[in-house]
Amino acid sequence: MSVPGIEESIVTTPTAAAGPVDVLIVGGGIGGLSAAYALAREGLRVRVLERAREFGEVGAGLQIAPNCTRILHDYGLLDEAENLGVLPKTMVMRDALDGSELTRLDLVDLEREYGFPYMVIHRSDLHGIFLRACRRAGVDLITDARVVGYENTPSGAEVLLEDGRTDEARIVIAADGLRSVARRLLTDDQPVSSPYVAYRAAVPIEQVGRNIDLSEVSVHIGPHCHFVHYGLRGGRMLNQVAVFRSPRALAGEKNWGTPDELDNAFATTCPDVQAGIPLMWRDRWWRMFDRDPIMTWVHGNITLLGDAAHPPLQYMAQGAIMAIEDGWVLARHVAAHRAENGSIDWQAAFAAYEAVRPEHCRRVLTTTRAWGELWHLDGTARLQRNALLRARDTYDYSFTDWIYGPTALTPEEEPPMFTPIPLDSGRSAAGAGPVQDASCSCST
Ligand SMILES: Cc1cc2nc3c(=O)[nH]c(=O)nc-3n(C[C@H](O)[C@H](O)[C@H](O)COP(=O)(O)OP(=O)(O)OC[C@H]3O[C@@H](n4cnc5c(N)ncnc54)[C@H](O)[C@@H]3O)c2cc1C
Repeated sequence: MSVPGIEESIVTTPTAAAGPVDVLIVGGGIGGLSAAYALAREGLRVRVLERAREFGEVGAGLQIAPNCTRILHDYGLLDEAENLGVLPKTMVMRDALDGSELTRLDLVDLEREYGFPYMVIHRSDLHGIFLRACRRAGVDLITDARVVGYENTPSGAEVLLEDGRTDEARIVIAADGLRSVARRLLTDDQPVSSPYVAYRAAVPIEQVGRNIDLSEVSVHIGPHCHFVHYGLRGGRMLNQVAVFRSPRALAGEKNWGTPDELDNAFATTCPDVQAGIPLMWRDRWWRMFDRDPIMTWVHGNITLLGDAAHPPLQYMAQGAIMAIEDGWVLARHVAAHRAENGSIDWQAAFAAYEAVRPEHCRRVLTTTRAWGELWHLDGTARLQRNALLRARDTYDYSFTDWIYGPTALTPEEEPPMFTPIPLDSGRSAAGAGPVQDASCSCST
């Protein structure tokens, strides 16, 4: 689906490196391109190496919270994003079985609270915004360049490409996603597979065939499943995400997540959710992975950024945001460690970046795992959770302050975490019963 005048992807001619640069970025996803733009704004010569034949994004919508729209504003890109996205007025969370409301965020008030809006936008639109910004800033954008090796050198760092070429720069940023090659320099960990599977759909609104309030981000949570929808592209499209626990994935079988499993997973959900299931794309689906947090991201003159460093489960909708924050923080520290003659103390800039980002991302990674468990509860625990969520005041921001406030540049600026509410404190409202030991993090 494309919008007239909006480039979704750009093919560049594969070339050998066209001269020395200060920064090499491996990976041209949202993390890599946003970091490239942030550093090019600081006057650095930046090159992005992307393995695909085209720069582009697969998938559908992204939720962009105030901790990211604040950065887009700083980059001068917020107006463009607002023109391409949607600024919903509310986010409503409901029970997927009975359809009843559990809690809501007033997104108009939330914008007043945090100073910047909550936005939903098509992935390819956000990616395209950064791609165009990189081109305007003179970033060297190279496709068909798969990096297979990294090495520190006396003057910086070098990457080895699959076809035998090499390239080097003063520093290398690996923004190469969940299955990062560079991460192996720091740890031998593997992606952690969850039995949950996502189906997506982004369809023209005329195809929807039912009335939908597009001023709302709607989230239905239920036993081992959830369903999210919101508008895209000024309301001309509907974005839907349906996530469920695949019985075959749980059993360790190969043929996981097939459309019959999708239909079964949502068979007992409320009519509003069931109405959305036939619209899901049925020719592709995604297994949910994350990785355990790691606290060391820097290896000499090479650093990780984005999903390469901290791929989350998607329940808090902060993965792309964290990647964008990484680039913004790094660029701010580059500016802070630049001498009058223009030289940069990269060691100090990397140290400042690593002092603050891994801890923030660790908090998000662990909270989003707990948040997902809370969404998918069944039986008495589901009723206890519902009671807790219903008790939350719409204007209580104590659960979102740590995440939607200004991105911390130093550990001292990192806000305190919320205080978790024990699930069994929802017991009286839900009726007595067996208690599951989980915590309510209540950030949507
Ligand atoms: C269902 C779902 C919903 C989500 N919803 C949200 C949301 O609402 N909000 C949000 O903020 N986040 C969301 N996320 C998370 C978000 O999509 C990711 O965290 C984000 O896209 C990561 O960006 P990245 O650039 O770090 O990595 P990627 O997007 O994975 O990009 C990595 C890039 O590197 C390239 N690459 C990989 N290996 C190499 C190599 N060896 N050499 C050269 N290039 C290479 C790849 O081709 C790719 O272009 C969601 C995720 C899922 C699965």
